Amino acid sequence: MNSKSLILIVEDDAAVRNLMAVTLETRGYRYHLAQNGTEALIEATTHQPDVMLLDLGLPDMDGVEIIRKVRSWSGMPIIVISARSEDTDKVEALDAGADDYLTKPFSVNEMLARLRVALRRISTDQQPAIQENAVYDNGSLHIDYAAGCAYIGDSEIHLTPIEYKLLCLLAKNTGKVLTHNYILKEIWGSYSSSEVGSLRVFMAMLRKKLQSGDAAQPYIQTHIGIGYRMLRQEKNPEEAP
Ligand code: CA
Repeated sequence: MNSKSLILIVEDDAAVRNLMAVTLETRGYRYHLAQNGTEALIEATTHQPDVMLLDLGLPDMDGVEIIRKVRSWSGMPIIVISARSEDTDKVEALDAGADDYLTKPFSVNEMLARLRVALRRISTDQQPAIQENAVYDNGSLHIDYAAGCAYIGDSEIHLTPIEYKLLCLLAKNTGKVLTHNYILKEIWGSYSSSEVGSLRVFMAMLRKKLQSGDAAQPYIQTHIGIGYRMLRQEKNPEEAP
């Protein structure tokens, strides 16, 4: 489905917009363009793209507002693009329901890689067998939700209850960047910035335990100052879209 995927590009900077469009076109994607928030919402509702690439700094509307509006009726992956170096914008966008982010200036290869992650997430979500199953498989990582056990290959990983909850939360959101704020709320039911330190410790333990099998491919990606993401292990990372 990837080669026919429809991507909505929302960007007011014509040069960046054209570069993105040309890149997508040469890779066989279909795309639509929007120059501002109003156009973005019209395009999103009328054409229901597979993925939205959304610049946060638009002339008529805050990008975060667009995410909230789209999220009220659609789960389409949204990758935000921010020229601002401040992490708070990205965190706010992710907490509003964005899946991922790119910071300007970004390379076209980086953009294509993020797109592949987003498209893989929807193709996995659309397989009912996987959703209904009580198991999770990703590379050599296997979770048996019914039994409450996790494995790397054939060996069980011994996790504390919190580590197991963290692993399940990340697994259920594979491909999506989860903010510290979101994880703390989901696991501990509260959020305070002082708890980010404890989260980091739990995450370090969890990663160490997951690494025993194939250390070359980390499952959990750290986004400094932002959060974490479970990566889908690829058999062939160079696979064309
Ligand atoms: Ca802009």
